[in-house]
Amino acid sequence: DDRIISPAAAPGEAYDRALRPQTLSEFVGQEQAKGNLKIFIDAARGRNEALDHVLLFGPPGLGKTTLAQIVARELGVGFRATSGPILAKAGDLAAILTNLEPRDVLFIDEIHRLAATVEEILYPAMEDHVLDLIIGEGPSARSVRIDLAPFTLVGATTRAGLLATPLRDRFGIPLRLEFYTPDELVRVITGAARKMGAPINDEGAREIASRARGTPRVAGRLLRRVRDFAEAEGAPMINRIVAARALARLEIDEAGLDANDRRFLKALIENYGGGPVGMDTLAAAIAEAKDAVEDVIEPYLLQQGFIQRTSRGRMACARAYAHLGLAEPPKPPT
Ligand code: ADP
Repeated sequence: DDRIISPAAAPGEAYDRALRPQTLSEFVGQEQAKGNLKIFIDAARGRNEALDHVLLFGPPGLGKTTLAQIVARELGVGFRATSGPILAKAGDLAAILTNLEPRDVLFIDEIHRLAATVEEILYPAMEDHVLDLIIGEGPSARSVRIDLAPFTLVGATTRAGLLATPLRDRFGIPLRLEFYTPDELVRVITGAARKMGAPINDEGAREIASRARGTPRVAGRLLRRVRDFAEAEGAPMINRIVAARALARLEIDEAGLDANDRRFLKALIENYGGGPVGMDTLAAAIAEAKDAVEDVIEPYLLQQGFIQRTSRGRMACARAYAHLGLAEPPKPPT
Protein backbone atom coordinates (compact mmCIF):
# COMPACT_ATOMS: atom_id res chain seq x y z
CA ASP A 1 0.00 0.00 0.00
CA ASP A 2 2.01 2.95 -1.24
CA ARG A 3 -0.68 5.60 -1.31
CA ILE A 4 0.52 8.90 -0.02
CA ILE A 5 -2.23 9.08 2.57
CA SER A 6 -1.71 5.52 3.74
CA PRO A 7 -1.17 5.69 7.50
CA ALA A 8 0.87 2.48 7.34
CA ALA A 9 4.63 2.92 7.31
CA ALA A 10 6.14 2.48 3.87
CA PRO A 11 9.31 0.39 3.66
CA GLY A 12 12.36 2.57 4.07
CA GLU A 13 10.54 5.50 5.56
CA ALA A 14 13.70 6.26 7.50
CA TYR A 15 12.79 9.89 8.10
CA ASP A 16 10.10 8.59 10.45
CA ARG A 17 12.88 7.86 12.88
CA ALA A 18 14.56 11.23 12.55
CA LEU A 19 11.29 13.08 13.21
CA ARG A 20 10.21 10.98 16.16
CA PRO A 21 9.58 12.86 19.38
CA GLN A 22 11.89 11.63 22.13
CA THR A 23 10.04 12.58 25.29
CA LEU A 24 6.48 12.59 26.59
CA SER A 25 6.46 16.38 26.62
CA GLU A 26 7.56 16.50 22.97
CA PHE A 27 4.84 13.99 22.03
CA VAL A 28 1.91 16.10 20.81
CA GLY A 29 -1.69 15.38 21.85
CA GLN A 30 -3.15 12.13 23.25
CA GLU A 31 -3.47 13.98 26.55
CA GLN A 32 -5.45 11.27 28.28
CA ALA A 33 -3.08 8.44 27.36
CA LYS A 34 -0.05 10.58 28.19
CA GLY A 35 -1.48 11.69 31.53
CA ASN A 36 -2.16 8.12 32.60
CA LEU A 37 1.20 6.89 31.39
CA LYS A 38 3.05 9.60 33.25
CA ILE A 39 1.47 8.58 36.56
CA PHE A 40 2.20 4.88 36.07
CA ILE A 41 5.75 5.54 34.85
CA ASP A 42 6.54 7.74 37.85
CA ALA A 43 5.10 5.12 40.21
CA ALA A 44 7.06 2.26 38.63
CA ARG A 45 10.26 4.32 38.70
CA GLY A 46 9.68 5.26 42.32
CA ARG A 47 9.31 1.62 43.31
CA ASN A 48 12.09 0.52 40.99
CA GLU A 49 9.72 -2.01 39.43
CA ALA A 50 8.87 -2.94 35.87
CA LEU A 51 5.94 -0.94 34.53
CA ASP A 52 2.76 -2.98 34.12
CA HIS A 53 2.09 -4.25 30.58
CA VAL A 54 0.68 -1.62 28.22
CA LEU A 55 -1.68 -2.20 25.30
CA LEU A 56 -1.80 0.62 22.75
CA PHE A 57 -4.62 0.46 20.26
CA GLY A 58 -5.75 2.72 17.48
CA PRO A 59 -5.43 3.16 13.71
CA PRO A 60 -1.96 3.00 12.12
CA GLY A 61 0.27 6.07 12.17
CA LEU A 62 -1.06 7.61 15.40
CA GLY A 63 2.16 7.15 17.37
CA LYS A 64 2.04 3.70 19.01
CA THR A 65 5.65 2.81 18.20
CA THR A 66 6.81 6.30 19.12
CA LEU A 67 5.00 6.16 22.44
CA ALA A 68 6.47 2.72 23.25
CA GLN A 69 9.98 4.09 22.69
CA ILE A 70 9.23 7.10 24.83
CA VAL A 71 7.98 4.85 27.64
CA ALA A 72 11.30 2.99 27.65
CA ARG A 73 13.26 6.23 27.60
CA GLU A 74 11.22 7.76 30.41
CA LEU A 75 11.67 4.59 32.45
CA GLY A 76 15.38 4.69 31.73
CA VAL A 77 15.41 1.10 30.49
CA GLY A 78 16.29 -0.78 27.30
CA PHE A 79 13.91 -1.11 24.33
CA ARG A 80 13.43 -4.13 22.08
CA ALA A 81 10.99 -4.12 19.19
CA THR A 82 9.47 -6.95 17.18
CA SER A 83 6.10 -7.72 15.65
CA GLY A 84 3.45 -10.42 15.66
CA PRO A 85 4.04 -11.67 12.11
CA ILE A 86 7.84 -11.81 12.59
CA LEU A 87 7.60 -14.15 15.60
CA ALA A 88 6.89 -17.34 13.70
CA LYS A 89 7.91 -19.87 16.35
CA ALA A 90 7.78 -20.00 20.14
CA GLY A 91 11.58 -20.18 20.10
CA ASP A 92 11.79 -16.78 18.39
CA LEU A 93 9.99 -15.12 21.26
CA ALA A 94 11.85 -17.21 23.87
CA ALA A 95 15.18 -15.98 22.48
CA ILE A 96 14.08 -12.36 22.88
CA LEU A 97 12.56 -12.83 26.32
CA THR A 98 15.60 -14.56 27.79
CA ASN A 99 17.81 -11.69 26.61
CA LEU A 100 15.84 -8.92 28.31
CA GLU A 101 17.42 -6.97 31.15
CA PRO A 102 15.35 -6.32 34.26
CA ARG A 103 12.54 -3.75 33.62
CA ASP A 104 13.23 -3.56 29.85
CA VAL A 105 10.43 -2.66 27.47
CA LEU A 106 9.56 -5.23 24.80
CA PHE A 107 7.43 -3.75 22.04
CA ILE A 108 5.34 -6.14 19.93
CA ASP A 109 3.65 -4.40 17.01
CA GLU A 110 0.61 -6.04 15.39
CA ILE A 111 0.29 -8.21 18.45
CA HIS A 112 -3.06 -9.51 17.17
CA ARG A 113 -1.11 -11.44 14.54
CA LEU A 114 0.86 -13.62 16.97
CA ALA A 115 0.77 -17.32 16.23
CA ALA A 116 -1.18 -19.32 18.82
CA THR A 117 1.94 -21.27 19.85
CA VAL A 118 3.79 -18.02 20.47
CA GLU A 119 0.89 -16.49 22.36
CA GLU A 120 0.87 -19.51 24.69
CA ILE A 121 4.40 -18.93 25.95
CA LEU A 122 3.68 -15.23 26.27
CA TYR A 123 0.98 -15.74 28.94
CA PRO A 124 3.19 -17.17 31.74
CA ALA A 125 5.95 -14.78 30.72
CA MET A 126 3.66 -11.79 31.20
CA GLU A 127 2.07 -13.07 34.36
CA ASP A 128 4.80 -14.86 36.32
CA HIS A 129 7.97 -13.97 34.40
CA VAL A 130 8.64 -17.58 33.54
CA LEU A 131 9.12 -19.44 30.32
CA ASP A 132 7.82 -22.99 29.97
CA LEU A 133 9.63 -24.68 27.14
CA ILE A 134 9.43 -28.19 25.77
CA ILE A 135 12.90 -29.53 24.97
CA GLY A 136 13.27 -32.45 22.60
CA GLU A 137 10.64 -34.55 20.89
CA GLY A 138 8.69 -37.74 21.43
CA PRO A 139 9.19 -39.85 24.57
CA SER A 140 12.38 -38.01 25.55
CA ALA A 141 10.68 -34.60 25.49
CA ARG A 142 10.71 -32.79 28.78
CA SER A 143 9.57 -29.40 29.89
CA VAL A 144 11.84 -26.87 31.50
CA ARG A 145 10.95 -23.70 33.30
CA ILE A 146 13.20 -20.68 32.91
CA ASP A 147 12.94 -17.59 35.08
CA LEU A 148 12.82 -14.30 33.22
CA ALA A 149 13.70 -10.79 34.28
CA PRO A 150 10.59 -8.76 35.08
CA PHE A 151 9.82 -6.77 31.93
CA THR A 152 7.16 -4.55 30.42
CA LEU A 153 5.36 -5.71 27.33
CA VAL A 154 4.00 -2.89 25.19
CA GLY A 155 1.64 -4.39 22.64
CA ALA A 156 0.22 -2.44 19.70
CA THR A 157 -2.82 -3.28 17.64
CA THR A 158 -5.16 -1.39 15.35
CA ARG A 159 -8.30 -2.60 17.11
CA ALA A 160 -8.47 -3.97 20.66
CA GLY A 161 -11.26 -6.30 19.54
CA LEU A 162 -8.77 -8.23 17.40
CA LEU A 163 -7.11 -9.65 20.53
CA ALA A 164 -8.14 -12.85 22.21
CA THR A 165 -9.72 -12.00 25.58
CA PRO A 166 -7.08 -13.86 27.67
CA LEU A 167 -4.35 -11.82 26.02
CA ARG A 168 -6.22 -8.53 26.33
CA ASP A 169 -6.88 -9.22 30.02
CA ARG A 170 -3.17 -9.51 30.76
CA PHE A 171 -2.51 -5.86 29.97
CA GLY A 172 -2.85 -3.76 33.11
CA ILE A 173 -2.72 -0.49 31.16
CA PRO A 174 -4.87 -0.42 28.02
CA LEU A 175 -4.66 2.90 26.18
CA ARG A 176 -6.65 3.97 23.16
CA LEU A 177 -5.03 6.47 20.79
CA GLU A 178 -7.37 8.91 19.08
CA PHE A 179 -7.18 10.78 15.80
CA TYR A 180 -5.41 14.14 16.24
CA THR A 181 -7.20 17.47 16.01
CA PRO A 182 -6.11 19.92 13.28
CA ASP A 183 -4.48 22.11 15.95
CA GLU A 184 -2.45 19.17 17.24
CA LEU A 185 -1.39 18.26 13.72
CA VAL A 186 -0.25 21.84 13.14
CA ARG A 187 2.10 21.35 16.09
CA VAL A 188 3.28 17.98 14.73
CA ILE A 189 3.94 19.53 11.29
CA THR A 190 5.66 22.62 12.64
CA GLY A 191 7.92 20.46 14.81
CA ALA A 192 8.75 18.10 11.94
CA ALA A 193 9.41 21.02 9.56
CA ARG A 194 11.81 22.52 12.07
CA LYS A 195 13.71 19.22 12.31
CA MET A 196 13.76 18.96 8.50
CA GLY A 197 14.88 22.56 8.10
CA ALA A 198 11.85 23.37 5.93
CA PRO A 199 10.52 26.92 6.30
CA ILE A 200 6.75 26.85 6.83
CA ASN A 201 4.28 29.35 8.25
CA ASP A 202 1.23 28.65 10.38
CA GLU A 203 -1.24 28.81 7.49
CA GLY A 204 0.88 26.43 5.45
CA ALA A 205 0.99 23.97 8.34
CA ARG A 206 -2.76 24.37 8.82
CA GLU A 207 -3.46 23.59 5.16
CA ILE A 208 -1.49 20.34 5.41
CA ALA A 209 -2.99 19.50 8.82
CA SER A 210 -6.54 19.81 7.52
CA ARG A 211 -5.89 17.11 4.95
CA ALA A 212 -3.81 14.70 7.01
CA ARG A 213 -6.65 12.45 8.23
CA GLY A 214 -5.94 13.15 11.87
CA THR A 215 -2.76 11.08 11.50
CA PRO A 216 0.81 12.26 12.25
CA ARG A 217 2.38 9.78 9.82
CA VAL A 218 0.24 11.14 6.99
CA ALA A 219 1.02 14.70 8.07
CA GLY A 220 4.75 13.97 7.97
CA ARG A 221 4.52 12.37 4.56
CA LEU A 222 2.44 15.23 3.10
CA LEU A 223 4.93 17.69 4.51
CA ARG A 224 7.79 15.94 2.66
CA ARG A 225 5.92 16.04 -0.62
CA VAL A 226 4.80 19.64 -0.21
CA ARG A 227 8.38 20.61 0.53
CA ASP A 228 9.47 18.90 -2.71
CA PHE A 229 6.93 20.93 -4.67
CA ALA A 230 7.93 24.12 -2.87
CA GLU A 231 11.58 23.56 -3.71
CA ALA A 232 10.75 22.76 -7.34
CA GLU A 233 8.80 26.03 -7.56
CA GLY A 234 11.56 27.96 -5.86
CA ALA A 235 9.15 29.03 -3.12
CA PRO A 236 11.15 30.26 -0.11
CA MET A 237 8.39 29.34 2.34
CA ILE A 238 5.58 26.79 2.56
CA ASN A 239 2.55 29.01 2.93
CA ARG A 240 -1.14 28.28 2.37
CA ILE A 241 -1.02 28.77 -1.39
CA VAL A 242 2.09 26.66 -1.94
CA ALA A 243 0.68 23.89 0.28
CA ALA A 244 -2.76 23.93 -1.34
CA ARG A 245 -1.30 23.79 -4.84
CA ALA A 246 0.93 20.84 -3.96
CA LEU A 247 -1.89 18.96 -2.26
CA ALA A 248 -4.17 19.50 -5.25
CA ARG A 249 -1.51 17.94 -7.48
CA LEU A 250 -1.41 14.96 -5.13
CA GLU A 251 -5.20 14.62 -5.63
CA ILE A 252 -5.97 14.94 -1.96
CA ASP A 253 -9.18 16.88 -1.53
CA GLU A 254 -10.09 19.43 1.11
CA ALA A 255 -11.44 16.71 3.40
CA GLY A 256 -8.18 14.78 3.18
CA LEU A 257 -9.73 12.04 1.07
CA ASP A 258 -7.80 10.49 -1.78
CA ALA A 259 -8.98 8.61 -4.86
CA ASN A 260 -9.44 5.35 -2.94
CA ASP A 261 -11.64 6.91 -0.27
CA ARG A 262 -13.76 8.47 -2.96
CA ARG A 263 -13.95 5.16 -4.82
CA PHE A 264 -15.16 3.51 -1.61
CA LEU A 265 -17.88 6.12 -1.07
CA LYS A 266 -18.90 6.01 -4.73
CA ALA A 267 -19.22 2.21 -4.67
CA LEU A 268 -21.28 2.39 -1.50
CA ILE A 269 -23.65 4.96 -3.00
CA GLU A 270 -23.79 4.03 -6.66
CA ASN A 271 -23.57 0.23 -6.48
CA TYR A 272 -25.42 -0.36 -3.23
CA GLY A 273 -27.82 2.57 -2.96
CA GLY A 274 -25.91 3.97 0.02
CA GLY A 275 -26.13 0.72 1.97
CA PRO A 276 -26.42 -0.94 4.34
CA VAL A 277 -23.92 -3.29 2.79
CA GLY A 278 -21.37 -5.66 4.30
CA MET A 279 -17.65 -4.85 4.38
CA ASP A 280 -16.72 -8.02 2.43
CA THR A 281 -18.91 -6.91 -0.43
CA LEU A 282 -17.64 -3.35 -0.38
CA ALA A 283 -13.98 -4.31 -0.22
CA ALA A 284 -14.49 -6.66 -3.16
CA ALA A 285 -16.28 -3.93 -5.11
CA ILE A 286 -13.21 -1.68 -4.95
CA ALA A 287 -10.74 -4.58 -5.22
CA GLU A 288 -9.04 -3.86 -1.89
CA ALA A 289 -8.17 -6.22 0.96
CA LYS A 290 -10.83 -6.15 3.65
CA ASP A 291 -8.20 -5.61 6.37
CA ALA A 292 -6.80 -2.57 4.59
CA VAL A 293 -10.26 -1.09 4.17
CA GLU A 294 -11.07 -1.69 7.84
CA ASP A 295 -7.77 -0.30 9.16
CA VAL A 296 -7.16 2.56 6.78
CA ILE A 297 -10.21 3.74 4.86
CA GLU A 298 -13.07 3.07 7.23
CA PRO A 299 -11.91 4.57 10.58
CA TYR A 300 -11.39 8.04 9.12
CA LEU A 301 -14.60 8.02 7.07
CA LEU A 302 -16.49 6.95 10.20
CA GLN A 303 -14.84 9.54 12.40
CA GLN A 304 -15.57 12.27 9.87
CA GLY A 305 -19.22 11.27 9.52
CA PHE A 306 -19.07 10.16 5.87
CA ILE A 307 -20.34 6.70 6.75
CA GLN A 308 -21.91 4.94 9.67
CA ARG A 309 -21.83 1.38 10.89
CA THR A 310 -25.09 -0.42 11.49
CA SER A 311 -25.83 -4.00 12.46
CA ARG A 312 -26.68 -4.66 8.81
CA GLY A 313 -23.55 -3.09 7.34
CA ARG A 314 -22.05 0.25 6.31
CA MET A 315 -24.27 3.14 5.26
CA ALA A 316 -23.46 6.42 3.53
CA CYS A 317 -24.28 9.57 5.50
CA ALA A 318 -25.47 12.90 4.11
CA ARG A 319 -21.88 14.21 4.15
CA ALA A 320 -20.81 11.49 1.70
CA TYR A 321 -23.48 12.51 -0.83
CA ALA A 322 -22.64 16.18 -0.39
CA HIS A 323 -18.91 15.55 -0.75
CA LEU A 324 -19.32 13.67 -4.01
CA GLY A 325 -21.95 16.09 -5.29
CA LEU A 326 -24.56 13.34 -5.49
CA ALA A 327 -28.25 13.65 -4.64
CA GLU A 328 -29.42 11.85 -1.52
CA PRO A 329 -32.17 9.30 -2.17
CA PRO A 330 -35.55 10.19 -0.70
CA LYS A 331 -36.05 8.73 2.78
CA PRO A 332 -38.27 5.66 2.73
CA PRO A 333 -41.69 6.30 4.29
CA THR A 334 -41.78 5.33 7.94
P1 ADP B 1 2.15 3.76 14.75
O1 ADP B 1 3.14 2.90 15.48
O2 ADP B 1 0.90 4.03 15.54
O3 ADP B 1 1.84 3.25 13.37
P2 ADP B 1 4.34 5.69 14.75
O4 ADP B 1 4.67 5.74 16.19
O5 ADP B 1 5.25 4.89 13.88
O6 ADP B 1 2.82 5.22 14.55
O7 ADP B 1 4.27 7.21 14.22
C1 ADP B 1 4.26 7.53 12.85
C2 ADP B 1 4.99 8.83 12.58
O8 ADP B 1 4.26 9.92 13.15
C3 ADP B 1 6.38 8.92 13.17
O9 ADP B 1 7.21 9.58 12.24
C4 ADP B 1 6.24 9.77 14.39
O10 ADP B 1 7.38 10.53 14.60
C5 ADP B 1 5.07 10.66 14.07
N1 ADP B 1 4.26 10.90 15.27
C6 ADP B 1 3.35 10.05 15.79
N2 ADP B 1 2.76 10.56 16.87
C7 ADP B 1 3.30 11.78 17.05
C8 ADP B 1 3.08 12.82 18.03
N3 ADP B 1 2.17 12.68 18.99
N4 ADP B 1 3.82 13.94 17.92
C9 ADP B 1 4.70 14.08 16.93
N5 ADP B 1 4.95 13.15 15.98
C10 ADP B 1 4.27 12.00 16.03
